[in-house]
Amino acid sequence: MSRYLNERFSTLVPYVPGEQPRNMEFIKLNTNESPFPPSPRAVRAAAEASKRMQLYPDPESRDLNAKLASLFGISPEEVISTDGSDELLNFAVMAYCSPKDPIAFANITYGFYKVTADLNCVPYEEIPLREGFRLDPDDYIGLNETIIIANPNAPTGIALSVSDIEKIVAENPNNIVVVDEAYVDFGAQTCLPLIHKYDNVLITRTFSKSRSMAGARLGWGMANKSIIKDLNTLRNSCNPYNINRMTAAAAIGAIEDEEYTQKCCRTIAETREKFAATLRKMKFEFGDSKANFIFVRHDKITGAELYSVLRERGFLIRHFDTPLLTDYNRITIGSETQMARLAEALAAILKERGEKF
Ligand SMILES: *Cc1c(COP(=O)(O)O)cnc(C)c1O
Repeated sequence: MSRYLNERFSTLVPYVPGEQPRNMEFIKLNTNESPFPPSPRAVRAAAEASKRMQLYPDPESRDLNAKLASLFGISPEEVISTDGSDELLNFAVMAYCSPKDPIAFANITYGFYKVTADLNCVPYEEIPLREGFRLDPDDYIGLNETIIIANPNAPTGIALSVSDIEKIVAENPNNIVVVDEAYVDFGAQTCLPLIHKYDNVLITRTFSKSRSMAGARLGWGMANKSIIKDLNTLRNSCNPYNINRMTAAAAIGAIEDEEYTQKCCRTIAETREKFAATLRKMKFEFGDSKANFIFVRHDKITGAELYSVLRERGFLIRHFDTPLLTDYNRITIGSETQMARLAEALAAILKERGEKF
C-alpha cells in the first residue's frame, strides 16, 4: 500500500477469484465455467464486430437489450447490460445502500457481496442459513435492509422456490430485493415474473455460466423501468461504454442460438445427476444442487486435503478456507469425460484412506 491510498480503502479485503492457471495442465473444475465452447454464432458475430473496433460501442447497448427483452418477453426498458453481473451488483449496492442503509445476505453465499458492500462503506448483516444450508424465508421478514439472495445459492447449489422469494419481496416493500440468478438455467425456477408484480425486485443474470461466455464479461439485470433507470444513472456515471462491441455481438449471436444454450444446460444437469449418484456411492455428503456445481464433504478426508491431493493429480476444484466452509469443496460440473476421470481419482483417494464402497 502506498501512503497516498484513501484511508477508507486501507482495510478493504478484495474478492479472491478462483485460480486461473496460465497453462491448461489441469482439469479445471474450480470457477463454474462451462465445459462447452460458446455457440459458433457467438464466435462469428464477435469476429465480425472486431473489424469495427476503432469505433466506440453503443453506450445504451440497444440491440443487445432489445434481444434480451424479446428472449424473455419483457420491454427493453426493463433490461440493463453490464460488464459481468458483478458490475451490476456493485451498481445496485451504490444505488440502494449507504453507510446508513445496510444490506443483508446469507452467511454462506457469494463472497463478492461482502466485498462490494465494503467497497461502498455499506454495513452488512449476514443471516445464518439453517440446517442443511437451507435459507429460511422467515428470517428475512421486515428487515428494513436491501437484500441479496443468490438463487440457486453459491457455493451450496441449493435453490428456493419462487413463492419463498416472493414472500421475502412482499414482506420488504420498502427495500430492493436482488435475486442473483447466475445459475438459474441449470434447474431452478426464475423469479422474473415478480418484476411485473412488485416494484422492488431486481433479477441479475450472467452470460458467464450457462452461455459459455465467462471470458467475454457480460451480465444483465431485469426489473421495472424505474429501477433500470436508477441503475443506468450509475452505469452512465461510472462506465458509459461498459459493454464492448465484440461482447455485445457475441451475446446477440448466442441469444439467436438459444437452443444451443438449452442443450448445454440440459447436458450439464444430466451430468450433475449422474456424478451425484457416483458421489453418493462413495459416501460424500452434499445437498440437492440445482447449479452447475456440487458442494461436497467427506468423513474420511478434510476439505483442504481433498483439494490438495486432487491438485497433485491434475484436478482443480474450489476450496474456501473459512471456518464455515473449510470441510467442503465446490466441484464444477464439467464434461461427461472430465467427471468420469474425477470420479476415478476420488475413488482411488478414498480407497487409500480406507473407505469401502
Ligand atoms: C459467477 C457469479 C456471478 C458473476 O458472474 P460474472 O462473471 O461477473 O457475470 C454472480 N453471482 C454469482 C452467485 C456467481 O457465482
